[in-house]
Amino acid sequence: MSEQNLFEDVKKHLCSCSADLQVTPNLEAIMKMPMRELHVSIPVRMDDGSIRAFAGFRVQYNDALGPTKGGIRFHPDETIDTIRGLAAIMTWKCALHNLPLGGAKGGVICNPKKMSRGEIERLARAYIQAVCHFIGPDRDIPAPDVYTDASMMAWMMDEYSKIVQKTTFGVITGKPVSLGGSEGREDATARGGWFIIREAAKDTGIFLEGARVAIQGFGNVGANAALIGQELFSCTVVAVSDSRGGIYSRIGLDIRALLAYKEKTGSVTDFPGAENITNDELLELEVDILIPAALENVITLDNASRIKARLIAEFANGPVSSDADALLHSRGMPILPDILCNGGGVIVSYFEMVQNFNLDHWDAEEVNQRLEKKMVVAYKAVHDLSFKNNVPMRQAGYTIAVGRVVKAMKSRGWV
Ligand code: NAD
Repeated sequence: MSEQNLFEDVKKHLCSCSADLQVTPNLEAIMKMPMRELHVSIPVRMDDGSIRAFAGFRVQYNDALGPTKGGIRFHPDETIDTIRGLAAIMTWKCALHNLPLGGAKGGVICNPKKMSRGEIERLARAYIQAVCHFIGPDRDIPAPDVYTDASMMAWMMDEYSKIVQKTTFGVITGKPVSLGGSEGREDATARGGWFIIREAAKDTGIFLEGARVAIQGFGNVGANAALIGQELFSCTVVAVSDSRGGIYSRIGLDIRALLAYKEKTGSVTDFPGAENITNDELLELEVDILIPAALENVITLDNASRIKARLIAEFANGPVSSDADALLHSRGMPILPDILCNGGGVIVSYFEMVQNFNLDHWDAEEVNQRLEKKMVVAYKAVHDLSFKNNVPMRQAGYTIAVGRVVKAMKSRGWV
């Protein structure tokens, strides 16, 4: 993570639409602060018998539109300001996609790569014990994010259910399908992002078949983005990366073979037939579509002038810093903003909540069709406003999202 402050950047995006929406300074001040935060210290017994206290957070940014929702991140470089920024992004994302939800985010400062499965399970359960009075199916509903996955969501749901003495599927989303999870949730963020790219490609004259794609990150979002790009949209994925580095192949990577290779070796690096490159080199490749799908602030003023992609699709949250965003816009480079592009995850999480509340289970086709419809509606709204007001798509997205939250706050009589 760079020194750039995600929370400060997201506040700048919020301000970019204040004039269009005639947001008063007082109203803007309310939206520039999280409504509630919980800071916890989480003691966990490690495998060697010692006790370690981990710092954890849960930030509920704004709940004007409904119960708050957002992932839980386990990362060694976590900071409260990153979590605040991510919680704010969730607020605007849920609003833009017209979900009856506010925004939240949680995190624990830890390095799961250096912990055993048992230690991770004890930490996941202890986190829920620490925040259980703050969350709940009609209050605040977590989900997976960086370095947390479906099996951890299952432990967390189980721990919450033990505390409240009843199975409560609706407290968390991104669970395994065998335990109240939704079909299609695993690849929802990537699939949803590709629906946005498909629509944008039509508007920008990019022909998707054979289009050259570079993807930073090869976790839940990045790996599914690579697979869907190759198999559903016939793109040529020329480069991918993970925390250890990247790989490049001019003729394209075989993503299924790469998935099997990463499963075996733990990284994409040294993949036979491909050339090793750095994460920085990946971002600067001459490609049609660049998909940052790892962490925030990877495109900053330091490298923005060297980005050569024809289209940037933000599958990660906050991958482009606000100053780099302005520079890329001045260069005429279209950016599909995170609150639009990666909304598929929270949309299918919302579908999971609906299924849990109704004790229902939709098939993958139904989930994917409903996802596609919501993504396309949001794309068209953002695209049309961007065109009408002659502003970047990010600003148009914020204008729609912030407008909805302001309306809800006014209707509730808060302002
Ligand atoms: P993940 O933990 O499954 O994968 C993260 C990937 O990033 C891994 O491949 C990891 O090796 C790589 N990575 C970590 N540090 C890196 C570095 N310094 N340089 C390059 N790569 C690095 O996480 P994920 O769920 O795929 O999330 C990725 C991004 O997408 C995050 O910004 C997250 O907030 C966002 N997002 C996720 C979802 C979701 O449903 N999981 C939804 C919306 C947005």
